[in-house]
Amino acid sequence: MPRSYVREARRGLGRRRERIGPIIDRLAAEHADATIALRFRSDLELLVSVMLSAQTTDVNVNRVTERLFREFRRPEDYLAVPQEELERRIYATGYFRQKARSIQGTARVLLEEFDGEVPTRLDDLVRLPGVGRKTANVVAAELGHAQGIVVDTHVRRLSQRLGFTRREEPEKIERDLIRLVPRADWARFPHLLIWHGRRVCDARWPRCEDCVIAELCPSSRV
Ligand code: SF4
Repeated sequence: MPRSYVREARRGLGRRRERIGPIIDRLAAEHADATIALRFRSDLELLVSVMLSAQTTDVNVNRVTERLFREFRRPEDYLAVPQEELERRIYATGYFRQKARSIQGTARVLLEEFDGEVPTRLDDLVRLPGVGRKTANVVAAELGHAQGIVVDTHVRRLSQRLGFTRREEPEKIERDLIRLVPRADWARFPHLLIWHGRRVCDARWPRCEDCVIAELCPSSRV
């Protein structure tokens, strides 16, 4: 289990429901450019990019997919090469064997069950090989059909520091956030926390003195 930030939320502040709106507004103003950092031009490219992004950086994925997507455009293209060939092309993203197997398995299911299209329902997405709830949530949200809230390491840390959850497991944190965050904000909320986490609310050294939501944060050190 990764480090917990639940205990850092010590200051007594207003209720979560009263703080969530102003927090979203301030973060949206501060990080107006907060969007997904992966580069893609189609639903399939989005899905493959998110699958490749496990355990590596978005910059790394973009470097690999810039070449990959020149030749691999349809699910059929991923099945037209041996697994080893695909492994070679995505090697730099790490876990290349597992990822190649998942991408080819996913391409097969897309062709067999979804007419070669990427589904938008969470229940359909998680049936694709190698696609877990987090990947499914990211893809559904980017396709304009958010049905949950993405919980990655930044979202987990900030949600705990902001006192939005006392849970540790991503699924339980997501459940708390779904109850709290207005549905219209489900897609952009994780981006706001991710960018705020990268730029200001560092895991070790949060820069509370420069934070636009410090007065709304029970973990603020200022
Ligand atoms: S940087 Fe902001 S969000 Fe993070 S702990 Fe400090 S005040 Fe809270």
